[in-house]
Amino acid sequence: MPAAIKKVDEDRFDRQKRVDGWDQAAVGGTRALVAGAGALGNEVVKLLVQLGVGEIAVVDYDRIVAANLNRCVFFNDGHAKGGEYKAEALAREAAKLGPSKIIPVVGKLEDVGEGFFNAFTHAFGCLDNLGARLSLNAHCYGKMPLFDGGTAGFFGKAQVVAGGSSCIECGMSRQDYKLLWKKYSCVGELLDFLDPKMPALPTTTSLVAAVQVNEFIKLVHGREGLAGKYWSFNGLDGISRVFRVPKRKSCPVHP
Ligand SMILES: [Zn+2]
Repeated sequence: MPAAIKKVDEDRFDRQKRVDGWDQAAVGGTRALVAGAGALGNEVVKLLVQLGVGEIAVVDYDRIVAANLNRCVFFNDGHAKGGEYKAEALAREAAKLGPSKIIPVVGKLEDVGEGFFNAFTHAFGCLDNLGARLSLNAHCYGKMPLFDGGTAGFFGKAQVVAGGSSCIECGMSRQDYKLLWKKYSCVGELLDFLDPKMPALPTTTSLVAAVQVNEFIKLVHGREGLAGKYWSFNGLDGISRVFRVPKRKSCPVHP
């Protein structure tokens, strides 16, 4: 085999470097915060490692159970039987895919402390509850772009908050606030019985995570992305649409 061909075949990032305007050094220089090590977290981390993101921190307090296995690509029966922490298993297994440095953080996002967020350049919301998403949104606003994802069965959504754009909380209705208050008891504990298990498909998970990371890639390369907008997917009719989220004057996160 000619030496020149052998050389390009030995570079794991060669084929993406062929994309017009690609900057592998810029991708490698990013430090990603992935909030949530469930279905979306697994997929997002997989893509970030494949792309060569330099550092990835994964935050999750939860342990793996068998019901996670239909949509978490890095988890297996052994992890579920052992009740391993999601963040630890994800960091360990995903590190086998590529050279990214992956740091597991076992804990709640609400408890990591303000200084923690200063270590990152981009954040990914891979969470299953509104309270944690709002906390992440407030911590990231004005500091780093946030790529937030959510799924429910055949339906998926990915929202981008960047620069001075509208944020996750801008899009909240009175009804959302009411539900949020209902979910917390008077002592601030999350009431799980008001949080029924949502339907979740691996197919919708892959699509939403791919859009979250695609938006990240565009932003790293200075391309116009979906800041202040969200991508919405209906897997039943196969239609996806982009909607603008107006900046709400009464939003508590920003002026
Ligand atoms: Zn807002």
